[in-house]
Amino acid sequence: SAPRLFVDPPLAEGLELRIDGAQAHYLGGVMRMRPGGIVILCDDQTGEWAGEIVAQGKRDLTVRLIERLRPREPVPDIWLCAAPIKRGRIDWVVEKAAELGAARLMFVGTRRAVVDRLNLERLRAHMIEAAEQCARTALPELHDLTGLETLIGAWPADRHLFFADEEGGTPIAAAIAARPGPAAILIGPEGGFDPDERALIRAVPAAVPVSLGPRILRADTAAAAALSVWMAVAGD
Ligand code: SAM
Repeated sequence: SAPRLFVDPPLAEGLELRIDGAQAHYLGGVMRMRPGGIVILCDDQTGEWAGEIVAQGKRDLTVRLIERLRPREPVPDIWLCAAPIKRGRIDWVVEKAAELGAARLMFVGTRRAVVDRLNLERLRAHMIEAAEQCARTALPELHDLTGLETLIGAWPADRHLFFADEEGGTPIAAAIAARPGPAAILIGPEGGFDPDERALIRAVPAAVPVSLGPRILRADTAAAAALSVWMAVAGD
């Protein structure tokens, strides 16, 4: 199948687009694409397009857009709010959230977090790679670190906040089935939320403490498991 890439918007029929840098290396060097070859381009705005390589330089390629194959997909209205965790594990969470179809990824600063800074550029690259691999035509919004108090203080009343609480709550599938509509999943760091943070979250009117089962999951596992359940019960 043709290689897929996300590029800057807006794409349009007949447009000739210059591709350089790592993407040109991927197409020309790794995939051995040459003029006449077909590539699939997405721009997170107009959808998915077929394009033909019409010129090739040492470090760049020109692609002419032939036709739109699909409009941008409707994105299920689910956010993942997760405490940052160690490099490698957080890359995995970003990848799985993109594959599972999250609309937004937010990182939440908590007291027991061992990570207090994020390389958003690296995370964005992982997110795009995952979206390309699973043929998404829309990218999740990626948000920088926000403190828990700030996030919770401004929580929208019309968005359920499924708070994964390892100390107990409603079984997640039942909680989601009973609450259709815009939602978010909140996952703590490796060390969990501290008691004050748990009380703060539980006090939010939209918050629903949920259990992911009798075992304590690693934060990365918990994020992917909770999102999978939401997608299975409420996603399209
Ligand atoms: N505080 C725990 C400890 O140190 O034993 C570990 C926290 S757990 C590794 C990280 C996060 O995953 C938790 O804050 C929670 O959001 C989520 N989590 C893990 N297992 C869970 C479960 N069985 N039910 C609900 N949430 C869970």
